[in-house]
Amino acid sequence: MILVSACLMGQPVRYDGRHSWSARVQELIQGQQVLALCPEVLGGLGTPRPPARFAGATFGREGQEVIAGIASLLDEQGIDVSGSFVKGALAVAKLARDSGVRLALLKDRSPSCGWDPRGENPRGGPGQGVLSAALLAQGIEVREIRAAAKYHP
Ligand code: SF4
Repeated sequence: MILVSACLMGQPVRYDGRHSWSARVQELIQGQQVLALCPEVLGGLGTPRPPARFAGATFGREGQEVIAGIASLLDEQGIDVSGSFVKGALAVAKLARDSGVRLALLKDRSPSCGWDPRGENPRGGPGQGVLSAALLAQGIEVREIRAAAKYHP
């Protein structure tokens, strides 16, 4: 079983109401069972929703610091949405564990799904999303999928 960011499977769950369908993901999941989930939706955030950014976090450890309560996620109005992000990430991580997931293909440049600890993505983004942190803590391999630029605003 492979966990995949729901937006990479074509589900319109991004903050802007769009999706990030990925041909690369379709190649990688051939013949595999897939669990397609969006942690922000499971955390109770609507679609569309205001984008959120990390505050007070260390690059590459942002997600684990939000889970630990020593950093936060603020939306563009400055509202602290950390609780919803953590709730959703932990819910997805539990479903992944219960389903025997060993590999997660997660979308880049997301405060939930991002995983770029060395800052190698030329288009920027966080080093570690909240979901990536929760999955890595459970020993699940996380791979960043760089979504097609045309799907970004
Ligand atoms: S990147 Fe992750 S949190 Fe953002 S829309 Fe896709 S699945 Fe949801």
